[in-house]
Amino acid sequence: MDRNKLIQTLLNDPQKQWDIIVIGGGATGLGVALDAVTRGYRTLLLEQSDFAKGTSSRSTKLVHGGVRYMAQGDILLVIEALHERGMMLKNAPHLTANQEFVIPAYTLWDVFLYTIGLKFYDLLAGRLSMGKSYFINRSKALGRLPLLKPEGLKGGIVYHDGQFDDSRMAVTLARACVENGGIVLNYFRVNSLLKDEKNKITGILAKDLESGKEFTIQGKLVINATGIFADEIHRMDDPASKPTIRPSQGVHVVIDSSFLQSSSAIMIPKTDDGRVLFAIPWYGKVVVGTTDTPLDTITLEPKALDQEIDFILRTAGKYLTKPPKREDVKCIYAGLRPLAANPDNPEATREVSRRHKITLSRSGLLSIIGGKWTSYRRMAEETIDKGIKAGIIEKRKCITRNFSFYSNSNPLESDRLKIYGNQASEIEKMIKEQHDLGELIHQKLPYTKAEIIWICRNEMPRTLEDMLARRTRALFLDARASAEAGPVVAELMAKELGFSKPWQDSEISRFNNLVLNYT
Ligand SMILES: Cc1cc2nc3c(=O)[nH]c(=O)nc-3n(C[C@H](O)[C@H](O)[C@H](O)COP(=O)(O)OP(=O)(O)OC[C@H]3O[C@@H](n4cnc5c(N)ncnc54)[C@H](O)[C@@H]3O)c2cc1C
Repeated sequence: MDRNKLIQTLLNDPQKQWDIIVIGGGATGLGVALDAVTRGYRTLLLEQSDFAKGTSSRSTKLVHGGVRYMAQGDILLVIEALHERGMMLKNAPHLTANQEFVIPAYTLWDVFLYTIGLKFYDLLAGRLSMGKSYFINRSKALGRLPLLKPEGLKGGIVYHDGQFDDSRMAVTLARACVENGGIVLNYFRVNSLLKDEKNKITGILAKDLESGKEFTIQGKLVINATGIFADEIHRMDDPASKPTIRPSQGVHVVIDSSFLQSSSAIMIPKTDDGRVLFAIPWYGKVVVGTTDTPLDTITLEPKALDQEIDFILRTAGKYLTKPPKREDVKCIYAGLRPLAANPDNPEATREVSRRHKITLSRSGLLSIIGGKWTSYRRMAEETIDKGIKAGIIEKRKCITRNFSFYSNSNPLESDRLKIYGNQASEIEKMIKEQHDLGELIHQKLPYTKAEIIWICRNEMPRTLEDMLARRTRALFLDARASAEAGPVVAELMAKELGFSKPWQDSEISRFNNLVLNYT
């Protein structure tokens, strides 16, 4: 994952035509690129910012079928997602985990409804079930979740789903693409589409945002995997195209684990306004969310609204004996769902299907929109299959169902490092050889200096934000601490990547500004 070397390979490409060019380096684009490259297509992926900078680093971190979609009657979506959940846990065990959830039940009707409902969820998961669901009485529920409000509690319903680290999964996909012969580049923006005299797409015009150089790149199939930005690419194809995306914002807050004091997560299936709320242990903190607020503005850096934060804290406080307050929040993050627009009722995002949509324009632009992280592999397979069906690329078989990502076989001294897959032992070796690399970047954050250096060498971070928000999750775990760690991390990065002192200063100031959005 050496950006400069990959750009050189792109420049010196003797064939001058790619089979597949993917626009967008989130879950969808990276999944598509990996599917393509492992089928043997010459594949290039371009991301205008960093991998997973968009929605793909801002999820609830669940690998799930979606209990909520089952309640909405979207059974096919749930079955598909449960199947993909099973594959993701099998193929990326270092980044996923089996998470136990408890639904607190305060009425007998809730006990009945959720016990039956989750039995059905188990049934849909079939062989790929992660553990049976069952009812537990009041004292057992309080044993599992000691800080759950006891007044009126009848018991709890236990079930299992998957959990993961979204942006590390994205970087893992990017690395796997490169290791299989593809090129993936961050900070490389696609500005327009190239067409022939028959108005068929023949490639793209892109800009390296670091050097400012423009690139004309030919490709047989161009795939638009730009999430909430998909309509921008549609307009490059056809300036008169109608909007297909309706963004809906989802906010999460991160609080200290002392507010939950449990390894079980809480799932509130119906909040006051009919939403679902999760409180999930994650890297020693608790992620609480989410909201569903229709918006009109599409941006890479969405901002949580005050009422969204208040809603999350207020709802969590209804179920916890120690209600979290605004000053307890370690991080607030917002993400935009790329929901398919419903022309008849554009406001009704909660009712809009969470299913993905694949379209092929007359000029040959293949777009994949919507869906969820959990289903990224299946979405990718269907997208490439559609390109084959349309006769744009030759037929080749998908092999990602059993594609294993760097599963670690060597025992590690620090279990925390398993997120680096089969290369985690390299980090341990660095620390053994040079003890000061074992120092933490900040006393409130779990990351060592060795990890920062290793990431620079292996995972293409270009900015301080890439490192603190998406390669490590420092920003999401404790935004203020991540800002305080900025100078140490910037210095390590500058040394490793050959950046100057002014680079360090400007990165620190840029990152400090960004942190304001997360605090
Ligand atoms: C609040 C929230 C919680 C969620 N929780 C879950 C969950 O727990 N589990 C789950 O399975 N799913 C979840 N999802 C859904 C999941 O996160 C998304 O479906 C998924 O991340 C979308 O990925 P994407 O690649 O389509 O979009 P994005 O991640 O937004 O990626 C699109 C990329 O395209 C790039 N781009 C745009 N224009 C250009 C251009 N011109 N040139 C180059 N690049 C460009 C952007 O910079 C961006 O990085 C959640 C979504 C939200 C909003």
